[in-house]
Amino acid sequence: MRPVKRTRCLRASKAAFDYNPQLDNGLTTMRILVLSDIHANLTALDAALQRVQGRWDKVVCLGDLVGYGPDPNEVIARLQELGAVTIRGNHDKVCCGLEEPEGFNPVARSAALWTREQLTSQNREYLRDLPPGPLAVDGISIVHGALQDEDEYVFTSAQALEGLLDASTPLTFFGHTHVQGGFSLRANRVDVLHLSPKPSQDLESLTVEPATQYLLNPGSVGQSRDGDARAGFAIADLPGQRVEFWRISYDIEAVQRRMAAAELPEPLIQRLATGR
Ligand code: ZN
Repeated sequence: MRPVKRTRCLRASKAAFDYNPQLDNGLTTMRILVLSDIHANLTALDAALQRVQGRWDKVVCLGDLVGYGPDPNEVIARLQELGAVTIRGNHDKVCCGLEEPEGFNPVARSAALWTREQLTSQNREYLRDLPPGPLAVDGISIVHGALQDEDEYVFTSAQALEGLLDASTPLTFFGHTHVQGGFSLRANRVDVLHLSPKPSQDLESLTVEPATQYLLNPGSVGQSRDGDARAGFAIADLPGQRVEFWRISYDIEAVQRRMAAAELPEPLIQRLATGR
C-alpha cells in the first residue's frame, strides 16, 4: 500500500488531503477498527468490541451512531470512552435537530423523534458538533455516504466510480447502505468486492494490492440490511496490508425487548432478526 500523509482529524479539503509519499512510516503501524451505522444498538457494539479486543489500535466511526435502536446515550458514551474519531450520519443530524426528518419514512421518523427525547443535552451537542466526512484519519479516509455527498447512497459500481477516482488515500471507508463489501479501481477497471464472511465464519480478509483504490463498507454494527443479521464491521490492518471484514453474533432478542419496552416501531424490531 502506498504510504499516505498523516492528516489526523483534519477535514478533507483537497489541499489538506494531498498525498505525499515521503512521509512518516509511523502511521502504517495502525490497525484501525472501522465501525459504522451502530444505530443505538449497544448490545451489538459491545459484542463486536469484545470479540476483537486487542486486535486494533484506534477506532473510527462513519456516522449514524443513533436512530432506530434503544440505546442512543449509551452508544455515544461507549464511543467517547474508546476515543473514537467520528463523523456524522444523516440520522445523527436529524436526531440532534440539525435537520428535520423530511426525507425519512414513517418508522425512521418515529424512531428519530423518540431519540430526540432521549438524548441528554450534552449528547445532543456532541452530535451537533460531529464533523461531516470525508475526513482523513491516519492514512485512511472516512465518509458516511458518498465522497462528494455525505447523504448519498453508494450501492453500484457506477455510483462508486466518482469516489474511487476522487479519493486521496488508497483506502476509503463508507457506510450508509448497511451493506458490507465494496469496490476497487485498478487500471481503469472497477470491481465489486464481495467481502462478507460466510455464515459459518466470522472473518473474511482482503489483501490490499498496490496501485489500487478501494471504497469499502464495513457493514452496519447495529442494523444489518444485507441478509446477515450479525453485527458487521472491519479492521484496516495497515501494517499487514489487509482489511478484515467481520460478522459477529449478538443477543438480538435482548435489543428487541428494549425496543418493545420503549415502544419503538414494530418493523424496526422485526428487521433486526432478519438482517433486511
Ligand atoms: Zn444508517
